[in-house]
Amino acid sequence: MIEAIRDSGVVGAGGAGFPTHVKLDAKVEIVIANGAECEPLLHKDTALMIRHADHVIRGMQIAMQVTGASEGILGVKAKRVTAIAALEKAIGDNPIRIHSLGDYYPTGDEFVLVYETAGRLIPPGGIPLQVGVAVNNVESLYNISQATAGQPVTQKHLTITGAVRKPMSTVVPIGSTLREMIDLAGGPTVDHFAVFVGGVMMGRLEWDLSRPVTKTTGGLIVLPGTHPLVERKARPEQAMHRIGKSACDQCSYCTEFCPRYLLGYDVQPHKVMRSLGFTATGSEIWSKWADLCCACGLCTLYSCPEGLYPKEACDKGKQDRKDAGLERWLGPTETVKPHPMSEGRHVPLKALIRRLGLKDYDLAAPWVDTDHHPRQVVLPLRQHVGAPAQPVVQVGEQVTQNQLVAEIPEGQLGARIHASISGIVTQITDAIVIEERS
Ligand code: SF4
Ligand code: SF4
Repeated sequence: MIEAIRDSGVVGAGGAGFPTHVKLDAKVEIVIANGAECEPLLHKDTALMIRHADHVIRGMQIAMQVTGASEGILGVKAKRVTAIAALEKAIGDNPIRIHSLGDYYPTGDEFVLVYETAGRLIPPGGIPLQVGVAVNNVESLYNISQATAGQPVTQKHLTITGAVRKPMSTVVPIGSTLREMIDLAGGPTVDHFAVFVGGVMMGRLEWDLSRPVTKTTGGLIVLPGTHPLVERKARPEQAMHRIGKSACDQCSYCTEFCPRYLLGYDVQPHKVMRSLGFTATGSEIWSKWADLCCACGLCTLYSCPEGLYPKEACDKGKQDRKDAGLERWLGPTETVKPHPMSEGRHVPLKALIRRLGLKDYDLAAPWVDTDHHPRQVVLPLRQHVGAPAQPVVQVGEQVTQNQLVAEIPEGQLGARIHASISGIVTQITDAIVIEERS
């Protein structure tokens, strides 16, 4: 089964794209399915759980089987009533239970999810495996189920929403362009717009609509170019830090609402901000309080009353430290203890959406069978954590849908890539381009 998962190119569909065959090549007690879907406005995981509950549970059974887990937990928000009903029906008498999550951000953070669902706290700087847990996104579980039936990962579930005429959740061939996705959703409702790929909190801002949908694209949120979120995200990094240096009053709200700090981890963005003004103290001090940050963006986009950029300061701190070749976490690794106020300081999703100025876009994005068939796809060789895949096809070669086009480099961490349409390979650079020719 691990081989089938590897051969089919399954990676974490909800985040950075860690190769699933490597994650599952371990012994654990519990497999947790991440169905929290806490990024504002995204609904594709919910749609997938409703439409493919059987596959999600089958993927869970396989993940439990290969890891030797005796328990499976599905973390799903209590408000997802239809999805929970579909999953309950599919579970049958399997040793799998549903854990209903609150509607706050970020319930999907791995550390938060493992604590909420299994009551276990991952050691600082550690991974779920250290507490006997493996976490997989629900779409990854769906892909695991498909993989064992011989179907490689060539399609992506995603939500297309925001300033579009017909917000929707759907599934499309990997390598389709962002422009095609926006057209599928009826086109933009404004002339000048930008796209958040993967969500407004943890995704990236994209202006180039020829960029492709990849194995990790969870959703596209189209916003007017003048929307405050676009303006904030587009601000040059140096300007973010310059403003922070002069304006941060050390109120520490960013720390007081930080979900990792509230779980007991030593993340203190206000101290990272303080270090902006005292960089002479050296790189270790500068970044020490950022190392365990999960980049959820809450401090920058919700907590800071002055509209500063503590999350970006943490990003910079972590990067500087990495560039200096320093170990990621040098602090204590013993078990942490949640803050006494942790339960009372959750940030409700509705409050976050209001704060982000997204209330007008907080729409259902229902499932639509689009049957999108692009004439050309662009398949980046790196859609996952690890080394880029190595092409095993040539320019001019005819390939068929589902055919292997790029392999994991020998002995390295990576994932295979398969053709999402049939056609001719027209270009190979850092991506393989396939064109349908009639
Ligand atoms: S919340 Fe804002 S102003 Fe307050 S300490 Fe954090 S970055 Fe500084
Ligand atoms: S982005 Fe901010 S709120 Fe989120 S974990 Fe990092 S420091 Fe905490």
